[in-house]
Amino acid sequence: MSRNARCPGSLDELWPLLEEGVTIMAGGTDLLVRRRGQVPAPVACLERIESLRGVRVHEGFISLGACETHASLLRHALVRERLPVLAGALQVLGSPLIRNMGTIGGNIVSASPAGDTLAPLYALDAQLELVSKWGARRVPLAGFIHGPGRTGLKPGEVLAAVLVPPPEPSALQHFEKVGRRKALAIAVVSLAAVILTDGEGVVLDARLALGSVGPTVARCPKAEALLAGRRLDREALLAVGEAMRSEIAPIDDLRASAAYRREVAGNLLLRLAS
Ligand SMILES: Cc1cc2nc3c(=O)[nH]c(=O)nc-3n(C[C@H](O)[C@H](O)[C@H](O)COP(=O)(O)OP(=O)(O)OC[C@H]3O[C@@H](n4cnc5c(N)ncnc54)[C@H](O)[C@@H]3O)c2cc1C
Repeated sequence: MSRNARCPGSLDELWPLLEEGVTIMAGGTDLLVRRRGQVPAPVACLERIESLRGVRVHEGFISLGACETHASLLRHALVRERLPVLAGALQVLGSPLIRNMGTIGGNIVSASPAGDTLAPLYALDAQLELVSKWGARRVPLAGFIHGPGRTGLKPGEVLAAVLVPPPEPSALQHFEKVGRRKALAIAVVSLAAVILTDGEGVVLDARLALGSVGPTVARCPKAEALLAGRRLDREALLAVGEAMRSEIAPIDDLRASAAYRREVAGNLLLRLAS
């Protein structure tokens, strides 16, 4: 670690460093790559701040500490059993090394439209707890992310926790990522779905989010409304998939064309057919 890296042991020790203008570093897997392997000077590592860790039920939310790594979240029963849509994304995020070092907070603040945890967290209606020396505030994740690499994090603030309203235990949760290869793939398109049905299989509530199809993750309100009151059969999903395609504005880039992304986005929904 560089001489310019500081490792505060508490938030109280972090605040003065933030006032000096340090860059926050969690796992460093985004930051160090962006800085071409150079540790930006000076940095404050968050790894020793215990209050930024932990997975628990708190005030009716499943609270995920921002400095929990992808691997530690995957090991947690609350994540695996209550949030399988998030666990599905964590399982395919990077490689074992990246999952051991990278954190959920770093994934969110990096605000990449291809960030794997984002589509599940949008579909789960997650909120964020942001703390500073002046206090704490809660914001919906969808309002926090403004565009690629751009968030509503204010100077002096740290992302402390991700707060997820627990979905109904019977809700169907599904995550799928299409990349250019099976391992270490950046998403070309990803779909996260959280769908509640009644005893007859009729959809009561649908939350659908697509990653890598625009500057931020896209929720698909038209498609969600269209699915309500229908069964998850092929005919319904074909119609809803078409609505989803009309709600997104993907771009051509090195990884895929806009047309391919639009086509795949609608098709991914067919995996939910009962
Ligand atoms: C080889 C490789 C493969 C990858 N594959 C994937 C992949 O498949 N899917 C994917 O989504 N990502 C992938 N990534 C990107 C990266 O690993 C993840 O985004 C990871 O979650 C970043 O977390 P981190 O803790 O390393 O963040 P850091 O690099 O430490 O920080 C990233 C940014 O967030 C800020 N930050 C971090 N924590 C906080 C906090 N608590 N409060 C405020 N600001 C904070 C930092 O200042 C920095 O701006 C990959 C990266 C590499 C190098």
